[in-house]
Amino acid sequence: MINRLPLIAGNWKMHKTGDEAVAAAKQLKPLVAGAKDVEVMIAPPFTALYQVSTEIKGSAIGLGAQNVHWEPHGAYTGEIAPNMLLAAGCMYVIIGHSERRQFFGDTDQTINRKIRAAISVGLAPIFCIGETEAERDSGKTFYVLDKQIRNGLEGFVLQDLQALVIAYEPVWAIGTGKTATKEQAQEVHAHVRRRLAEMVGQGFADQLRILYGGSVKPSNIKELMAMPDVDGALVGGASLDPVTFSQLVLYKK
Ligand code: PEP
Repeated sequence: MINRLPLIAGNWKMHKTGDEAVAAAKQLKPLVAGAKDVEVMIAPPFTALYQVSTEIKGSAIGLGAQNVHWEPHGAYTGEIAPNMLLAAGCMYVIIGHSERRQFFGDTDQTINRKIRAAISVGLAPIFCIGETEAERDSGKTFYVLDKQIRNGLEGFVLQDLQALVIAYEPVWAIGTGKTATKEQAQEVHAHVRRRLAEMVGQGFADQLRILYGGSVKPSNIKELMAMPDVDGALVGGASLDPVTFSQLVLYKK
């Protein structure tokens, strides 16, 4: 019996100061305190991480960052190293988000280095993949995803990847209000799991969590989570309001 603990992760992007993030985390805590059989994570901006980690200590909420650099230290102005995230209280780090790929030059190769760096300090990478609308329309979805997976995970062996989470985020569904149908999400998630089984082994693929991201909201989470290969959600817009986000976390109720 395969039992993958669902993960509902909130990506706060470039929203909320430290104080605003703490206030949101404080409000969220009691709202999700009763959540059972689900893991909750929030990823505030870097500047709020330490404050939020203090606020959520001992609660059901875990902490993640939205990006990381691949070197442990050095002359990389404006960048943040993996051990800094760990010291700020993070367990997770989102890597390769489509906004990073689109606006900040992240490539499959730098993403690969970031995943390696995160794993080296014990951070769990949430590795984002996804196709654009044009790629989907021209029938290239699986080709694009396969390439992102192959390059992003090149050189890794089974023991490196124990904490890996994959997030399938179709670019056309992020922040657009367009959601993949539950059938589209399931088709891709099953494909991704098959690829990982080929690359790393069936046992690994069976326990790998694959999140869906792209305009997830209270009205569609239940049907997405009902699909056999959807193991959670990476949520942008709907994670900013604690009440709405708690409804996502409590999707079973
Ligand atoms: C995201 O940015 O990861 C995301 C899925 O955003 P949204 O939920 O707003 O579409």
